[in-house]
Amino acid sequence: MKSSLKLLLVFIVALFISCTSQQETPTPSLDTDRLIEDLRFISSDTTEGRRAGSEGNRIAREYLVERFKEEGAEPFQGTYTHEFNFRNRQGEEMTGINVIGQVPGKTDSVIVITAHYDHLGMQDSLIFNGADDDASGTAALIAYIDYFSQDQPNHTLVFAAFDAEEMGLQGARAFVQDSIFLDKVKMNINLDMIAQNDSNEIYAVGTYHYPELKPVLDGIDTGQINLLFGHDDPDSELDDWTYASDHGPFHQQGVPFIYFGVADHEHYHRHTDDFGTIPQEFYKGTVRMILNAILAFDEL
Ligand SMILES: [Zn+2]
Repeated sequence: MKSSLKLLLVFIVALFISCTSQQETPTPSLDTDRLIEDLRFISSDTTEGRRAGSEGNRIAREYLVERFKEEGAEPFQGTYTHEFNFRNRQGEEMTGINVIGQVPGKTDSVIVITAHYDHLGMQDSLIFNGADDDASGTAALIAYIDYFSQDQPNHTLVFAAFDAEEMGLQGARAFVQDSIFLDKVKMNINLDMIAQNDSNEIYAVGTYHYPELKPVLDGIDTGQINLLFGHDDPDSELDDWTYASDHGPFHQQGVPFIYFGVADHEHYHRHTDDFGTIPQEFYKGTVRMILNAILAFDEL
């Protein structure tokens, strides 16, 4: 009896120490070296431009599922993939596959963070690597999974790498349509082209529709990045990007969104949008800044 009491005491002390040391774990940092390696692979010639339905697209998808798992994402509704059917612009029936994982939060209120992993594929012998569009957003999802799996968020964060965006936002449309949990989604944060700009500028689009989100973004540390607003007011002279990427289907269902993206550039939808032309410091800066935005929205 005496010795078992002693054992219990030792156990309690050990438990106390392990709890204390857990509390002292420093806040995780963003692994920007791994971010660059993920960008390099996703936009490499191996994935052949990641056109929906292609072999290269499958290679990219399998890589994403592995990386989502490695960094600690849990499957979403029991699986890491979400298959859907759609018609392409030629009217042909096609199948797309989204990659989805989640980091459970302290509540079941959800923030959905999205990027698209498909791109244009190949034309003749040219590979359209789509490093900025949108390997940049896709690699960022992996970095955020790594970060939040070490530091539990308040909201449950669902990370969706959509397929067939380039064929008309098909992956996002299917996700929104098939979602049985849309009433739990507080907002969508969409990343599409976050790595290529000569003036350190990127836009946060959506505050025209959801002005309550603007003060949150005004309050974040943007580092070296110039965060601009606009491209969401139909009356402005800037193009309206409200339906330009995967945040569109969320907005259509009344889900608030913020879309981060750079202005169109000389490499946009050209084969020169590849890993070699990405300004890496700018890219690391936008990924860091968007992390600060996610952390701020997670506090709401
Ligand atoms: Zn894109």
